[in-house]
Amino acid sequence: MKNEHRTEIATLGEFGLIDRICKPFVARNPTTVEGCGDDAAVIDAGDRYLLLSTDLMLEGVDFDLTYFPLQHLGYKSVVRGISDILAMNGTPRQIMLSLGISSRFSVEMIDAFYEGVRAACERYGTDLAGGDTNASINGLAIGITAAGDVAKDRIVYRSGAQTTDLICLTGDLGAAYMGLHLLEREKRACDGHPDPQPQFAGHEYILQRQLRPEARTDIVAALAENGIVPTSMIDLSDGLASEILHLCKRSDKGARIYLNRLPIAKETYAMAEELNSDPVVAALNGGDDHELLFTVPLSKQDEIFGMGIDVIGHITDAGTGARLVTPDGQEIAIRAQGWK
Ligand code: ADP
Ligand code: MG
Repeated sequence: MKNEHRTEIATLGEFGLIDRICKPFVARNPTTVEGCGDDAAVIDAGDRYLLLSTDLMLEGVDFDLTYFPLQHLGYKSVVRGISDILAMNGTPRQIMLSLGISSRFSVEMIDAFYEGVRAACERYGTDLAGGDTNASINGLAIGITAAGDVAKDRIVYRSGAQTTDLICLTGDLGAAYMGLHLLEREKRACDGHPDPQPQFAGHEYILQRQLRPEARTDIVAALAENGIVPTSMIDLSDGLASEILHLCKRSDKGARIYLNRLPIAKETYAMAEELNSDPVVAALNGGDDHELLFTVPLSKQDEIFGMGIDVIGHITDAGTGARLVTPDGQEIAIRAQGWK
């Protein structure tokens, strides 16, 4: 490839790169109902759909073992996998977990990681159904594949949002991101100390959101109980801004999100103030929230409020784009995120 033209990946960004990878592939099998582009692939399994999703987590990119306990990392890996199954309105059933392990790791460390995996499998009723183990030169690599299923008439894609639909959001935003900032701050403060004493008191909530997140199986169950099938859904792994843009793009719609409706925990505000950072930036761009963003027709408003779920905006026609509305009525275009 010596004399060939070289294009930096940064010119495409994460989402542009994925589009470029997937475009030349067409489905050959009629059982491939949905390939690239949603939270999980959808495979026709007869009377139900099989859902399949895979995620890669790399040490130094997705986690830092200086402060991330291995049990929690095992738990979080499972949560990350099954969250994509939930985003299709599905039930997670199996996971497969692959590890790349360097010589820095002992058997006891791997045991600790799988203790967390076991706790999550128990909590979410999923089975470890295999994986792969290999040596790595640098650090820990975790590949997690999750499988699940859903009744054909209950599947939810990113693409079904309709104009005037309500945009609903579970939980609160930005806490995991502020937890990460706190962990990074204490890592710097403790660096080189023989007896490090990180200051975590009072910040349990944001730390738990970063280190021990939960997947919203409760929401998928509550939607079913209330007879609601959202028109579109996505899980929040990369932050609200990029996820709402995915929904809009796949649904060919726009959106209005109201700034003062964004659910932000008081602990997130407090940490942002202490760190001199903007809680709204954390809410929009902070990743790892593992909440669900979905749309429902206006007629479902009462049921949604009854479930204690926040409505943060509504879907508009495509032409208006995705916009953030400030309390004084200004509208700001929401921009795409993703790694470069
Ligand atoms: P999520 O954040 O929900 O895990 P991603 O943003 O990672 O989703 O991926 C978006 C879509 O692109 C998914 O449908 C995923 O399967 C697909 N995708 C991502 N990377 C690749 C790749 N290297 N090859 C094929 N498909 C990919
Ligand atoms: Mg997802």
